[in-house]
Amino acid sequence: MAIGCSIIVPMFNEEEVIRHTYTRLKQVMDFSGEKYEIIFVNDGSADRTAEIVEEICQRDSDVRLIQFSRNFGHQIAISAGMDYAAGQSIVIIDADLQDPPEVILEMLDKWKEGYEVVYGKRVKRKGESLFKKITALMFYRLLGKLTQVDIPLDTGDFRLIDRKVCDVLKGLKEKNRFVRGLVGWAGFRQTRVEYVREERFAGVTKYPLRKMLRFAADGITSFSHKPLKIASYLGFVLSFSSFIYLFIVLLQKWLEFGMVPGWASIVAINLFFNGIVLMLLGVMGEYIGRIYDETKDRPLYIVREKLGFELEEAGISG
Ligand code: UDP
Ligand code: MG
Repeated sequence: MAIGCSIIVPMFNEEEVIRHTYTRLKQVMDFSGEKYEIIFVNDGSADRTAEIVEEICQRDSDVRLIQFSRNFGHQIAISAGMDYAAGQSIVIIDADLQDPPEVILEMLDKWKEGYEVVYGKRVKRKGESLFKKITALMFYRLLGKLTQVDIPLDTGDFRLIDRKVCDVLKGLKEKNRFVRGLVGWAGFRQTRVEYVREERFAGVTKYPLRKMLRFAADGITSFSHKPLKIASYLGFVLSFSSFIYLFIVLLQKWLEFGMVPGWASIVAINLFFNGIVLMLLGVMGEYIGRIYDETKDRPLYIVREKLGFELEEAGISG
């Protein structure tokens, strides 16, 4: 029987939760009546995550494990899962049980109604810091303003996509991947299910500020050129105002009034303009760095080991 649903679970140091995640997923999927596979992608964990999943893999033929050679990042782990998924539908879910597995049943229902993308919209986020909630809120609004691509507000990567959508995404070779944006870009018939984002079952977030910033920069630079245009807008506005100021200075000179030494204003103007120029160079650097990444054309990830795929390859379970 062909696989109806592939579940992709990216994991980075999730030893405390992964067994529970497996149990909950299994219950839900057994209940769904679909033939399924669960693909755990180990994104270079330094703890016992891989050993635990290896053990599960040995006794459950519906479980597969992809081991990266090091930490490549959440979005890349998801992309690898898509490369190996065999199902007619593909579900992406976090390993920490913040996305309740039970919602998958609702997603499957929508899929059977004919939708090709069913994304989970977070109506509430439990147990996350105020800082995370506020930055996330601002980020999705800013992204919406900057891009033409339809990226739904307040959605994560918890979603179901159809085989067709997965094949499109697999064909996109960009290295700095912002998966939820790519799904929006791909189009297709999309709908949503609402859910409450739970607290992490155990462990701490694997997204420190550094990774969050990179993630945000990837999202914006992959889907918008507007930051690059700030330079031309600002340049226009600033040269226009300098021109007016030049007039004032000349008037002052001719009419010989208000000619103070003016050291403070020169320093202030210098600092201001230098600051803006450096900031815009930084923006360009973000884009150029990404262009550089693309031109190197290195593989997206390196697989150290695969487990649980043998039966599929031999065609025994098919
Ligand atoms: N993750 C990953 N690689 C990373 C960071 C995170 O595969 O470099 C996984 C992590 O194990 C989890 C998911 O991505 O399954 C989301 O991470 P996390 O829950 O830490 O992020 P948060 O929910 O705090 O935004
Ligand atoms: Mg989480």
